[in-house]
Amino acid sequence: MKGIVYKSTGSWYTVKTKDGTFYECRIKGKFRIKGIKSTNPIAVGDKVHFELDDKGEENVGVINSIEDRKNYIIRKSVNLSKQTHIIAANLDQVFLLVTLNNPTTYTIFIDRFLVTAEAYDVPVVLVFNKIDTYTEEETDEVKYLAKLYRNIGYTCIGISAKTGKNVDKIKEIMIDKTSMFSGHSGVGKSTLINAIEPDLDIRTAEISQQHLQGQHTTTFAEMFDLSFGARIIDTPGIKGFGIVDMEKEEIGDYFPELFELKQHCKFNNCIHLDEPKCAVKEALEEGSVSWSRYRSYVQMITGEEENYRIDIHGE
Ligand code: GDP
Ligand code: ZN
Repeated sequence: MKGIVYKSTGSWYTVKTKDGTFYECRIKGKFRIKGIKSTNPIAVGDKVHFELDDKGEENVGVINSIEDRKNYIIRKSVNLSKQTHIIAANLDQVFLLVTLNNPTTYTIFIDRFLVTAEAYDVPVVLVFNKIDTYTEEETDEVKYLAKLYRNIGYTCIGISAKTGKNVDKIKEIMIDKTSMFSGHSGVGKSTLINAIEPDLDIRTAEISQQHLQGQHTTTFAEMFDLSFGARIIDTPGIKGFGIVDMEKEEIGDYFPELFELKQHCKFNNCIHLDEPKCAVKEALEEGSVSWSRYRSYVQMITGEEENYRIDIHGE
């Protein structure tokens, strides 16, 4: 039998088959996934094959294999062993909610998130929330940001989770897909999910974060089916996904616009800092690469982070 993992509690996995039945499954013997050392061999979103329990218990099974993952996101465990925990697998997209105020989302946060998502091969949709609260100047700021990220290839949508403005656009791109919502606490994730599906009984981040305090146990992600043919993965208490270990030389590969230019740099290992005849530096001067993005890039390389909000008059 075949199904998708909707939930896991450590040793038991809830698997849903195509006909909509849920099975509680364990893992057969010493089950290991090649290549990844993680505390959990199977995660929410995994496509698994299982057999029904031979003791004849109803809706109980044993997982014996897992299909290749399209992608997966991890985080490092909080405990000392520094082991990797797979949060979820086979994501179609992540919505990153961004607000200018209450809370402020700085460009370095957006860019770091995008780099991580690129590295994990997870598409990101940028959602600028709370557009009902912005001044004219802030609205220009949002438009500026949206244009900047659209130029690089990211879908950008301005919404108000509170008034419902453009929530239908989010729903439209969720259909038939598995999505996740991310962003700082207070950007409006719960409000948006509630606007998308009012009756969904989802745990709120506040509660789970309280639970998390002082605990070393892992919280578990859970997948939910929505009424209009979409799936969401809720990750209580998990703020973002862990940054992948990256070499300096590698970071530029996850800025799509820099990656594209790299082949035109004089040196094929150019990291676009002080090298001569650097195509990225030329593009910056000429205006086709944004200073804001470049600034984030340099900060990620040097490890010196500073918070900037876009100032449309001088970035
Ligand atoms: P979460 O921490 O990301 O889940 O954020 P919440 O959904 O709890 O929202 C935090 C606060 O922002 C709440 O007081 C919401 O009512 C408010 N909020 C969320 N979306 C909007 C919006 O589009 N406009 C306005 N004005 N307030 C919003
Ligand atoms: Zn270069």
